[in-house]
Amino acid sequence: MIPSILPTYNRAPISFEKGEGCWLTATDGTRYLDFGAGIAVNVLGHAHPALVGALTEQAGKVWHLSNLYQIPEQQELADRLVEATFADTVFFTNSGTEACELAVKMARRYWFEKGQPERTDIVTFEGAFHGRSSAAISAAGSEKMTKGFGPLLPGFVHLPWGDHEALQAAITDTVGAILIEPVQGEGGIRPLPDQCLKGLRDLCDEHGILLILDEVQCGMGRTGKLFAHEWAGVTPDIMMVAKGIGGGFPLGAVLATEAVAAPMTAGTHGSTYGGNPLACAVGSAVMEVVSDDAFLDDVTRKAGGLRQKLEGLVAAHPDVFEAVRGMGLILGLKCKVPNTDVVAACYDQHLLTVGAADNVVRLLPPLNISKAEIAEAVERLDRAAASLSVNAA
Ligand SMILES: *Cc1c(COP(=O)(O)O)cnc(C)c1O
Repeated sequence: MIPSILPTYNRAPISFEKGEGCWLTATDGTRYLDFGAGIAVNVLGHAHPALVGALTEQAGKVWHLSNLYQIPEQQELADRLVEATFADTVFFTNSGTEACELAVKMARRYWFEKGQPERTDIVTFEGAFHGRSSAAISAAGSEKMTKGFGPLLPGFVHLPWGDHEALQAAITDTVGAILIEPVQGEGGIRPLPDQCLKGLRDLCDEHGILLILDEVQCGMGRTGKLFAHEWAGVTPDIMMVAKGIGGGFPLGAVLATEAVAAPMTAGTHGSTYGGNPLACAVGSAVMEVVSDDAFLDDVTRKAGGLRQKLEGLVAAHPDVFEAVRGMGLILGLKCKVPNTDVVAACYDQHLLTVGAADNVVRLLPPLNISKAEIAEAVERLDRAAASLSVNAA
């Protein structure tokens, strides 16, 4: 009999009732150290006082209006994002998937208005993840996500990761945009090297193509910059944001330059909940903390320490781990044993991690984690790896 919850997830048999900072307490009282952060969502951990304060204060005023009216909390968050980034304008969504939908629509509308409506193709890359809507699975293109869900949305050109020749060959008159994650998350924590992102920007400029960055997982401070593309010193035309921006409250956004967004006039797009006062009040509280340079420098410093410890861990358990990947606090351990075994062994050590493609275990702690908690997590990982080595022997 089908469970009352549609079983599209393989869920661990753990349930949590309370969280504080980087710790979650299960219903049996066991405390877990959270290195998954709801898949890069809880950037400030659980029950952060500033976020609880922002949410409860707004909850006492007004929950929902409609984009038929001015929403001051939405205006404040949009202004903060415009101030802190390349963007001139922002549209709020409830998720990364919806941000993908708008990014695709915006790129196509741009070319339509420019009198080149044939430029509908969007180049994407193997291992990508952009969400679960028909457009988002069509964009990513993997068989795992698309099988049985056709007909898919046309107009996506899928290329292998890191194949420069294939990329050059794919640039035709019908290409309107390139869509890429600066650090692939679900694909196995694969950072795009800075010179490749610069090269993509140059290629786009040369052919007048739009660059769309999906920073849903790697953005909001996770790499030690507010957005990952800042490391390469280039900017996109359109950017998708979600996950961390709401710190746990459902919120996403599409950021864009004026030139690209201008055709999105009244009536061209909409959302009932997008930019809701509750979500935006929390989003502003997240931005207040995360967009601070000192906070971001601290992320980079702590991440350096974690990275070093993880390199040591890989060296200590060569039969379990192959390598460390990623940047900042979006890190992956490429495994030699099944990554699901590592995630399970970590559960036994009361440490939460997240699997990814390419046999990787993701480490995505809250960004305000302490050095002591990092050291504690590495000890737990060490014990988890040791338990797997013993089992293997
Ligand atoms: C999670 C994710 C999405 C989809 O976001 P949802 O909020 O789950 O719809 C899109 N792109 C990337 C890179 C993601 O990690």
